[in-house]
Amino acid sequence: MQFHLDGFRPGDPAILPQTDAKPDFTVLPPVVDVLIVGCGPAGLTLAAQLASFPDITTRIVEQKGGPLRVGQADGIACRTVEMFEAFGFAERVLKESYWVNETVFWKPDVLKPDVIVRHGRIDDVEDGLSEFPHVILNQARVHDFYLDIMRNSSTQLEPTYGRRFVDLSVDPTVSADTSSPAVTVRLERLDTAHLGKIETVRARFVVGCDGARSGVRQAMGLTLRGDSANQAWGVMDVLAVTDFPDIRLKSVIQSAQEGSILIIPREGGYMVRIYVELEKLSADERVASRNISLERLIAAAQRILHPYVLEVKEVAWWSVYDIGQRLCDRFDDLSDDQADREPRVFIAGDAGHTHSPKAGLGMNVSMQDGFNLGWKLAAVLRGQSPPDLLRSYSQERHAIARELIEFDRQWARMLSAPLKSPGGAADGVDPAAIQRHFVRHGRYTAGTATRYAPSRLIGKEHHADLARGFSVGMRFHSAPAIRLADAKPVQLGHAARADGRWRIYAFADRADPADSLSPIQRLCAFLEQSPESPLRHHAREGADLDALLDIRAIFQQEHRTLSLGTMPALLLPAKGRFGLRDYEKMFCPDPRRGDIFDMRGIDRDHGCIVVVRPDQYIAQVLPLAAHHTLSAFFNGIMRADRMNSTDLPTPYESNRVEQVAAS
Ligand code: FAD
Repeated sequence: MQFHLDGFRPGDPAILPQTDAKPDFTVLPPVVDVLIVGCGPAGLTLAAQLASFPDITTRIVEQKGGPLRVGQADGIACRTVEMFEAFGFAERVLKESYWVNETVFWKPDVLKPDVIVRHGRIDDVEDGLSEFPHVILNQARVHDFYLDIMRNSSTQLEPTYGRRFVDLSVDPTVSADTSSPAVTVRLERLDTAHLGKIETVRARFVVGCDGARSGVRQAMGLTLRGDSANQAWGVMDVLAVTDFPDIRLKSVIQSAQEGSILIIPREGGYMVRIYVELEKLSADERVASRNISLERLIAAAQRILHPYVLEVKEVAWWSVYDIGQRLCDRFDDLSDDQADREPRVFIAGDAGHTHSPKAGLGMNVSMQDGFNLGWKLAAVLRGQSPPDLLRSYSQERHAIARELIEFDRQWARMLSAPLKSPGGAADGVDPAAIQRHFVRHGRYTAGTATRYAPSRLIGKEHHADLARGFSVGMRFHSAPAIRLADAKPVQLGHAARADGRWRIYAFADRADPADSLSPIQRLCAFLEQSPESPLRHHAREGADLDALLDIRAIFQQEHRTLSLGTMPALLLPAKGRFGLRDYEKMFCPDPRRGDIFDMRGIDRDHGCIVVVRPDQYIAQVLPLAAHHTLSAFFNGIMRADRMNSTDLPTPYESNRVEQVAAS
């Protein structure tokens, strides 16, 4: 963590310099850049990302009167913790959460089918998949961490509660001009002092993160299509006394006649979540019509666990549900052939895709939607990229949602199918097949299998041989390294913050990096001096050279053999108002924890450049000498003649004093 760049500041460095007086977030300004509807995981990820830009006016509205206290989701995939690290709260999550290290599988005993026996025990996550574990933590706590990040950001953003989205309209006469607040949103006040009053807010962009019953989606004329579940499930978070030996392990338990349960131990050491398979529903029947009680859920869990005893002492939360696999046709307000304007309204999270919670992916995928959209909106609003960048959001995330729906359909079907076992159906599912399926799809459920297709933002794998462990289109897989200047063992991937910046990781070849003719020195000279350099070409006048593109170098040599003074000047940049040196751009292998060149299959003879997007996905792997290809790539997605700081769109200053007239 770096701080004091622009002068010494005592106190908590996580609280960023906040220049303006704090806006009153209980009132809404008449005009904003981005209006987010819904304070779930998708909306808060997006809001936390946008909150770090003081030149963007963001507001997030929520129909509830305050923050969530008890949530539905609790599964946090490894990939999501990687993202939390970029936001700066992974450590808090790791400290508080349950870590899913192993998963066990139980099935009916062959000789006594009414008794369950353990038949498998596996690592939950394969070794080396991520530096972070798969964890379990109440969704409400994840919300709390995001709210802290927003509150501590330079904009001090807080949600505006007690506002229900009513409808929206996009003004077709100005919609092609993305600098105009073309979207008008009507919101109903739900706070007692103003109950029922309608407010109007105009926005340049609106994002519906308002869950499965999204009003924003409906206002866009989109619908969720797909299967209804036809299978009821119950879920309860309980404090219980039991002799079931695996109660503190994630357990997939299938009985011969009574159905199946999933046990997910919860944070804090005592509570467990139990998902209980209930009855099949008839076509178009909703679970609510069955009036399923908590007592039924408990009784079903007790029967499935037989011969073990489950004595429930307290139920913290419970629910029954029948979520089907449904997907929207697209996640923005364009139609396929619409070339005359760019998207203005988006949906993210459950508003665009719903599925069963058993794979524990809903919250994770929803947050990744928000992360994908956040940096793109920021780049467009700050004048760094043309507005057509925003088309890539629906293109990229819709493909991911389609895969998710397919995965969930298979997994839910498997868990609900009758068992092939003594006492079970002869043509049913083999419990061992379920375990194999779980192992085979481990990378998917860890969130690390996401791969974006080649596009303007994602290159083709022309140079895969240069870095076998980094796949273009997939997330940057961190590895250990030693920071050159202070010999600190770090994770290279943790250099990435959720700050909207691109990262260029330059892995040097074998040559001495002090040699001015070495490929790494030539690359740095190009980036620092050439008018074609993306660092110069797209930089804002007066801003630090790494304000948009953050270059980091990794050398092959042992860190004690290199001398800072002989390294390329670009890697010791002078920054901020005092021209202080940034000493955190250079790294070397950490043989004690594994050599990053070996771990990620970097070609030692040639080295390579790995270009990473602000959402941590690899956009390009290029040779060290591919200077012009690197420039051309950024020219394709960033404005060629970036505006000077004085030309940047100003936030709607008047908003700070104006208040919405409630009608
Ligand atoms: P939501 O979390 O639904 O948030 C939407 C927000 O919008 C809400 O705060 C809502 O009040 C607000 N809103 C709605 N309409 C309006 C309006 N008109 N105006 C203003 N505000 C509005 N996922 C996992 O990843 N792991 C799990 O373990 C898991 N377990 C689950 C267990 C259960 C029982 C259920 C039902 C779901 C579970 N999920 C799980 C799924 C997960 O909860 C959702 O996928 C996730 O919360 C979706 O996030 P979201 O931000 O898109 O929407």
